Order: sequence, then structure tokens, then C-alpha cells
Amino acid sequence: CGIIAYVGQKNVQPLLIEGLKRLEYRGYDSSGLAVIDARRQMHLRRAVGRISVLEDRLAEGSPLPEANIGLAHTRWATHGPPTEANAHPHVDAAGRIALVHNGIIENYVAIKQLLVEKGYTFKSQTDTEVLAQLIGDLCIQIKEQNHLPPGASILQRAVQAALNEVEGTYGIAVVSSDEPQTLVVARKGSPLIIGVGDDEYVVASDASAIIEHTTQVVHLNDHEMAVLRAGPGRETSFRTMTIGDITVSPVVQQLENKLEE
Ligand code: GLU
Repeated sequence: CGIIAYVGQKNVQPLLIEGLKRLEYRGYDSSGLAVIDARRQMHLRRAVGRISVLEDRLAEGSPLPEANIGLAHTRWATHGPPTEANAHPHVDAAGRIALVHNGIIENYVAIKQLLVEKGYTFKSQTDTEVLAQLIGDLCIQIKEQNHLPPGASILQRAVQAALNEVEGTYGIAVVSSDEPQTLVVARKGSPLIIGVGDDEYVVASDASAIIEHTTQVVHLNDHEMAVLRAGPGRETSFRTMTIGDITVSPVVQQLENKLEE
């Protein structure tokens, strides 16, 4: 239902909570956030009910460490009841990828079946977790292929390859603890707006969550993805590309063949 994501120099947690509150008016049944700290550790918190319940969850136990990248979501359940396990973000098997999603992945059953055959297990009933696990699997395979140009983002390639396989609608934001200064976002049939600040990007499904940060916004086009890079000691960069523009890797070809069967 609502997405807010950030990469930059600031501590991300208060910013994500503030963003979620701005998205509340659209309605939701659960919420959650994931951040990656400077030690490349992923931290995930989710809760059923109001944002205040998520805040209570964050206040319990040890506070989250400072982090400069993260994403958050308010969910309006379409696949699977509103439970904590079904709340976003969803993570891959290794817990390195976190993803938030608005919309519906229509062919998730077929993709899930392929992943289950490969030995993956699922923790939720959502269509969204299938996409998170697929991206995780593709990251491993792209890494194994081992002939990427220096500086290339494995995450970007994996997201692009995964989106070529899914049918349905989506606005997504994805992060990986292997690339803690890269935020990948994409959309098809679901809005996403990118706020461009000083050495930072704020992405949201709704302008109301961005205007407090910057007036400089880019509306991501349908069928487009963006790779946003920022963070301490790194040059800020912004690149958009068309989702369909990808040389099909053997891995994806294999997946395509199986999906066609
Ligand atoms: N289909 C996804 C789910 O049920 C996303 C729902 C939403 O847009 O909030 O988790």
C-alpha cells in the first residue's frame, strides 16, 4: 500500500517512521521496516496494526543501530492475512535482501514452485516474498557467473532479471546488505516518486511522504527502474533504465523455459 525508502547520510529510522505516518491516511493493516547498518547487518521489524505498534516494537529491547539506508511499508493485504510474517519488508533465504512491494505478483505460484523445487522454504503466504527470494537466488547466480564489470551492481541485475519474469503490478524498493549504499526501485502500474536531496534520495509511493525532505522530485516512469547510490564517502549517483532492457543470462533463460512449460 505505502512505500518509503531512503539512502543517504542521515540516520534512517526516524525518517522511515515519519514517512510511514504520512502514508497512514491511505489505510493499511500492518507495517514494517528494514535498515542496513554500517557493519552491513540487516535489521528487520514488523508489526500488525497501527504504526504506533511498530514504534512500540522498536522501543522494546535494544534500539536499532544508526543506519543510512532502509525501507518501510504499510501493507494492505491481498495475498495472505494481515500477520507479522506476512508484513513487509520480506527478505530472501540468506537474509541479505529486503524488499517492500505495492501491487500484486500474478504468477507467484509458478515462481514459488520453481524455488521450492530448488530447496527454498517460505515464511509467509504473500506474493511478495516470492519476489524477494527470486531476487536473492538470482544474486547468487549472477555472482557465480563472475564476469561483471567493476562497479556493476549485482542487486540491480538481479532485480532487473527477476522483474522480467514476473507478471502483475508493482512498485518496489530493494536493498542488499552486500551493497549497503545502493537502493534499487522499480515500478509497473503502481506509482513511485524519487526525491533528490543533497547526497541523499527519498523514495515514496506518495508525494506526501517526500515534500518535507525536498522539492526536487522525479516521477519514475512505468516499466522503469532506478539505481540510487549515496552514503558516507561515496559519490551520489542516479541511473534509470527500462526494465525490459536486459541481456538474458543463462540463468534467466532456464527460468523462462521452465515457466513456459
Ligand atoms: N500483494 C502484497 C501483499 O499482499 C502487497 C499488498 C500491498 O500493496 O500493500 O503483501
